Amino acid sequence: MGGDGGSIPGRQDLVKTKRKPEMAERHVERIARWLHCAITQEKLRPPIVSCELGRLYNKEAVLEFLLDKGSCQSAQHLRSLKDFKELKLTDNPAYRGPSNDKGDAYSDNQASLYICPVTGLEMSGRYRFCFLWTCGCVVSEKAIKEVGSDVCHKCGGPYIPGDEIVINGTESDISLLRNKMLDKRAKAKAEKKAKKSQKRKLDEKVVDGVDEKSESVESKSLQAKFRNLPKR
Ligand SMILES: [Zn+2]
Repeated sequence: MGGDGGSIPGRQDLVKTKRKPEMAERHVERIARWLHCAITQEKLRPPIVSCELGRLYNKEAVLEFLLDKGSCQSAQHLRSLKDFKELKLTDNPAYRGPSNDKGDAYSDNQASLYICPVTGLEMSGRYRFCFLWTCGCVVSEKAIKEVGSDVCHKCGGPYIPGDEIVINGTESDISLLRNKMLDKRAKAKAEKKAKKSQKRKLDEKVVDGVDEKSESVESKSLQAKFRNLPKR
């Protein structure tokens, strides 16, 4: 139908043919982010780390990046060891090793390497997953939302609401996370500055004290010297 001049293609046809490849591409891109390091694009392998924006990296790649400050755009927000966390992942018992990989073709049927320890959902890019910044444990967002608790479902450590970071989230997730990161950094900077000026004040006081003390010690020893001078 359409294209021969005899019929006018409906909006549905145009939209469909235009959107399909784009969507497939985006799907592949989305899946790829769960399998590859955001810096090197190499396959993810433990130890795997993540940042305040929820990107996945091989730890080795991040350490190398920090050493020679690479130009990788996905990692410009990483300044030191404090800016990423090593992830505690749960192996998927259904994963049958790399023989399941069919080159660069991604299939929804392919078992993923990791699962949510609470819900059993596969960490394949299909479901939303988070990690907790404090302990680094990775669970599905469903587990956090539906199993309300004040402890981490994986390690039993404390869970602070708002501590979770969505892994490979949507653009709006990332912009929220970026704002959170910038707020946190500005706060840390202000605290550091306040501490520094407080310390300076303390140091000044201590220096004053020492000066007075040494002065008095000095004058006392001088007085003693005068006292010990032979009388004439
Ligand atoms: Zn935990």
